[in-house]
Amino acid sequence: MFSQAKHAPRTPAELLITNATVWPVATAEPIPNGRVLIRDGRIVRVGKFQSLAAYELDAGGGLVMPGLIQGHVHLAQTLFRGLAEDLPLLTWLRRYIWPLEAAHDSDSLYASALLGCAELLRGGVTAFLSMETTRHTGAVFAAAEQSGLMGSIGHCLMDETGNYPPLAVPLDDALADCDLLLDKLRGHDRLRLAIAPRFALSCAPDLLREAAAFAREHKLRLHTHASEQEQEVRLVKKLTGRGNIEFLHEIGLTGPDVALAHCVHATRAEWELLAATQTSVLHCPTTNLKLGSGLAPIPELLARGINIALGSDGAACNNRLDLFQEMRLAALLQKPVRGPEAMPAATVVRLATEGGARALGWEAEMGTLEEGKRANLIIVSPDRLHVAPSTQPAANLVFAHEPGDVELTMVNGEIVYRDGQFQHFDLPQVLALAREERAKLLRRAGLAA
Ligand SMILES: [Zn+2]
Repeated sequence: MFSQAKHAPRTPAELLITNATVWPVATAEPIPNGRVLIRDGRIVRVGKFQSLAAYELDAGGGLVMPGLIQGHVHLAQTLFRGLAEDLPLLTWLRRYIWPLEAAHDSDSLYASALLGCAELLRGGVTAFLSMETTRHTGAVFAAAEQSGLMGSIGHCLMDETGNYPPLAVPLDDALADCDLLLDKLRGHDRLRLAIAPRFALSCAPDLLREAAAFAREHKLRLHTHASEQEQEVRLVKKLTGRGNIEFLHEIGLTGPDVALAHCVHATRAEWELLAATQTSVLHCPTTNLKLGSGLAPIPELLARGINIALGSDGAACNNRLDLFQEMRLAALLQKPVRGPEAMPAATVVRLATEGGARALGWEAEMGTLEEGKRANLIIVSPDRLHVAPSTQPAANLVFAHEPGDVELTMVNGEIVYRDGQFQHFDLPQVLALAREERAKLLRRAGLAA
């Protein structure tokens, strides 16, 4: 696909990307015939300049931009794809998702996460924030480490036995697991632990308070779900006498280090709370449609300066881990209600890049192409029937492109995906392992294939 002056290794110490439309995102406009110089995994220069480098990569006129950032995903659920369709949230969780998560062992979780990581890399994702399950989170770290991705991996906490006892783990045991994971990850350059209490209805107030304290003691992200559906909000109100986000706020689960998925049914007073506390919101438009949850008030949240990231949620409720689809829907969904000028394409691209970086707490390292940041970038080909002859990167990305248009994904200066090939695994083997582990998982869960 690329013509190269010199054949570059996968992780060159110095690389000059040429012949590209370079879009740094941030406030900058796309730069035609731009270049990006990378040294030791970091961006050294972006724009139009002359420079020599040990290796050169001709982007073939493609778009070079920051890697997409997946703001909300459950890699543990990739193996559940297509198993539980057309159900309301709480039934979907209790009848399928929680029993399947409880049936995971390390091997099935590893297979699920590796399959998910492959799909993310192929779709131009360079970093993610996840919520996994209550056990075996080390297997997700192993898969993510192998894939070359960056990520903040959420160990899920659930202790309320009223919901699904086999998945519940007592608070002290859950925090001991977090300690073990932290020990393993100390000083890891690409992967971090996040603390992910599932949602208000599956966590005792003490768990939520302790989870927040643990995360703050160790400077970790807090990642949970909030106000996804009306029924959930009603139940939280019944139990606590508070609005869902109001309750989370009182218990310590708002702040610049907190990311809340969905917030579809946040009240106006809660919008102000999210803004005042600088809490990030993770917008998952496909899941909100598929589970019939509703339309998240994203323009209203953006108008209040709230940081928004985009997420696919799990493959069990989407079914694609595809941020191009989420960008398209994030833009289109608002237009019938708020008019065609709502959610312009460039704004949506910023949610999938800068917004994601901020939600992960990694905004100094990624999310834009700027000097000193990590070389987390993608090359997207405009040379496709569904894109040509448009030369507008923002409109192309949001309304036309699809994951197959990503030609190259680079993380930390390493080419981890290129033209259908993964650097660290063989796709047919990943698919075979997923099929094998899914069959065993379904038997363990007592569900038919
Ligand atoms: Zn979710």
